[in-house]
Amino acid sequence: MAKYVYFFGGGKAEGRADMNNLLGGKGANLAEMTNIGLPVPAGFTISTEMCTYFYDHQRQYPPELKPEVEAAMRKVEEAMGTRFGDPKNPMLVACRSGGRDSMPGMMDTVLNIGLNDTTVQALAKNSGNERFALDSYRRLLLMYGEVVMGLKGHPEKPFDHILEHAKEKQGVKIDNELNVASLKTIIEQSKAAIKKYTGKDFPSDPYEQMWNAIGAVFGSWMNDRACVYRRQYGIPDEWGTACNIVAMVFGNLGDDCATGVALTRDGSLGAPGMNGDYLINAQGEDVVNGSRPTKRIEETLGKDLPAAFKELVEVGKKLEKHYHNMQDIEFTISRNKLYMLQTRNAKRTGFAAVRVATDMVEEGLITKEDAISSRFIPAGDLTQLLQPIFDLESKKKATKSGKLLTKGIPAGPGAATGKIVCSPQKAEQIKQANPNAALILVREETTPEDLRGMKAALGILTAVGGVSSHAALVSRQMGKVCIVGAGELDIDHHTGTMKVQGKTFKEGDDIAIDGFTGEVFEGHIDTRASEVVQVLLKKELAPEKSEWYQRFQKIMSWADEYRTLKVRANADLPDQAAEAIAFGAEGIGLCRTEHMFFDHVAEMREMIMASDTVSREKALAKMLPFQRSDFAGLFRAMAGKPVTIRLLDPPLHEFLPQNRAGQEEMAKILGKKVEEVARRVEELHESNPMLGHRGCRLGIVYPEITAMQARAIFEAAVLVQKEGVKVLPEVMVPLVGFKKEYLHQEKIIRAQAAKVFAETGTKVEYLVGTMIEVPRACVTADAIASAAEFFSFGTNDLTQTTLGVSRDDYGPFISAYTDPKKADVLAADPFATIDQDGVGELMKIGVEKGRQARTSLKIGICGEHGGDPDSVKFCHKIGLNYVSCSPFRVPIARLAAAQAALKK
Ligand code: PEP
Ligand code: MG
Repeated sequence: MAKYVYFFGGGKAEGRADMNNLLGGKGANLAEMTNIGLPVPAGFTISTEMCTYFYDHQRQYPPELKPEVEAAMRKVEEAMGTRFGDPKNPMLVACRSGGRDSMPGMMDTVLNIGLNDTTVQALAKNSGNERFALDSYRRLLLMYGEVVMGLKGHPEKPFDHILEHAKEKQGVKIDNELNVASLKTIIEQSKAAIKKYTGKDFPSDPYEQMWNAIGAVFGSWMNDRACVYRRQYGIPDEWGTACNIVAMVFGNLGDDCATGVALTRDGSLGAPGMNGDYLINAQGEDVVNGSRPTKRIEETLGKDLPAAFKELVEVGKKLEKHYHNMQDIEFTISRNKLYMLQTRNAKRTGFAAVRVATDMVEEGLITKEDAISSRFIPAGDLTQLLQPIFDLESKKKATKSGKLLTKGIPAGPGAATGKIVCSPQKAEQIKQANPNAALILVREETTPEDLRGMKAALGILTAVGGVSSHAALVSRQMGKVCIVGAGELDIDHHTGTMKVQGKTFKEGDDIAIDGFTGEVFEGHIDTRASEVVQVLLKKELAPEKSEWYQRFQKIMSWADEYRTLKVRANADLPDQAAEAIAFGAEGIGLCRTEHMFFDHVAEMREMIMASDTVSREKALAKMLPFQRSDFAGLFRAMAGKPVTIRLLDPPLHEFLPQNRAGQEEMAKILGKKVEEVARRVEELHESNPMLGHRGCRLGIVYPEITAMQARAIFEAAVLVQKEGVKVLPEVMVPLVGFKKEYLHQEKIIRAQAAKVFAETGTKVEYLVGTMIEVPRACVTADAIASAAEFFSFGTNDLTQTTLGVSRDDYGPFISAYTDPKKADVLAADPFATIDQDGVGELMKIGVEKGRQARTSLKIGICGEHGGDPDSVKFCHKIGLNYVSCSPFRVPIARLAAAQAALKK
């Protein structure tokens, strides 16, 4: 018979940390902490399999669940020495969600289950603290009403009104100042509100409360924000959540109690040392929901509760040693005794990830392989170390001229300058209309509902909350610049205003936030390159002066030790090539020659206007020197590393002016009639240019273009080789679908090579190969590879042609395709991450057939996907030799390639 319930308590647990998939992260780690002797209240976990069952059976449970839960409850009662529902000595329980991967704040929790009009009296009597008992009861009514009875997000916000009214009446500001009389009123009014808005009574039976809470926790797996979060982080819907029932321990019994959330190292920049937020005399949710200003563990907990603090620090060390990772801990101190309520691997920024990984290797806690695993550094997070920071001079000027408005807690490093937006919905709308909009989302606090708006913003600024608040956690994970708890800000999201220091700012006004220091400035501040970029590209910072650079470099060198996949860059110009080399590129995987033509558009237009081969060749001859010097620049910059140069690809009309004024100007320059120009534009017009006269089809119709380009490549190669620099050109034919297309172009290329070598008396080593970017090329790869010396997957076009989705027109509908709440057709944007089941299968066919015909066939990828970590891992798996991506993504690809190699 299936087992669904796993007990932990009294120093022994049925579960373990490696049962994460079955018990969820929280359940598995509560079990593990119990087993290693840490103070954990007793409880049990209902497995994720039950969640799956629940959704497969119209939200019903199997009959065997009830007796299993009841038996586990007996054991919990035994361990705690109290009984659930006992009118004299009641044990209360918390019901908490917990999936395999943590999804902070996305699912539901209900605390203090088991209280009713009778048990509350017993709790008051036994604790000697009536206020505490009533406070716990009113919290249960609130959480139960919202989470279980569905009043969360109710437009009339009944519970908020009741609480505010009571505070006002009693003349207090903070929840825990409410007295017994006020709490009694709140309790009665909360019960009445539940009845009024749901038509049902709050159930007084503890078991009924518990079963309904379990249903709500399983139900919360499918709420909107959890679904959005899962999509963002690639967590499958099928995983389900577990449900943990844990005996309550109380942090709200008095001033010798506290509750808090701690990190064993700093989550923002990774500095060592326990840190986090806590509140004296409070219960769990108070700390994360920003309802009261929290205190900092590293600053005052040692003074407030010295013994418990010391124990907490020790437990932190023990946990890091046990889990070999930085931990995120929830704890409660009840009458000076520490209880652990949760531990998990902590979320961290890219900066913290790099620092923690390198520090932990030095401390002997992890190995180099661990440090570069995606568990420690998700490859994409490295981008954060390359993003801009504030220009120091500009920032100094802003400070001097009184533009510093206030300071909050730095929670997500980086610099962001942009326009204030106070509502997440608005942020999303603005961003949709203008993808380049730079927005700073300014909120009193953020809740999990704000996720989409946070995604749209460059930076996030909140007035309340600490480093473990929702805003901080989520921004950190998204790599957003973030400041929380800037308490001087008075934010009104109804009117869209932010007041501070007597000044009022409205939506659309510029502000600048420094996520390293927590400073908030009015106006715009210039940004400058990150430290890593200053060292590597600008060469304006010495490597030994930048610790961030050194750590980054360490990670990169470790990654290079393990990866087998080579990493090249897409670069068209010598300065881009130099950047690529600085970031560690091992060659150029794609030089798009059309960018050079755009720089010499007059000559290009003359060539396009030519009515016969002779005049076309004349125009092309004018372009040859430019091409040659561009290629020579690239060869010099790459100094012997391979350079893949692709022949002209885009349709010719892209080089012609489409409007009358432009055509008049062009006619004047070329000494032609404007009608003639207009006629040529008309002739070249295509209904579907992406599938029209482009790629090798151009070189087939106008072989003289291919000849000129090939000549320029070989002349440049000979020239640079004569200068004593090694060259390795790889000439690439675009958009090939037929072997004969390839052969046609190859013949011209090789003929030019032979001519140039004969003319100059010098030979250079070179390859001729092809892009594989239409499905026909994949399925006939054996034929093509019998002639071509290398393949490079053009996954931009391959995605376009495999899916039949235009790469230029997919914007308006793709979000419906990737949104789990809409059509949910695709898990990710297929133009960013390879659609492995479709495009990926074709790639596999291309690789297999290609190597059947030519075992030594070199295969790479040069579509946008070459810098996407998941796609890089896929490329490793199917046996490509290299990926090629934009220079700034080269470090990400290097790390992703190492992660793929280590995965085995
Ligand atoms: C591709 O199609 O993936 C490719 C690299 O070529 P382009 O983007 O220039 O069409
Ligand atoms: Mg292409």
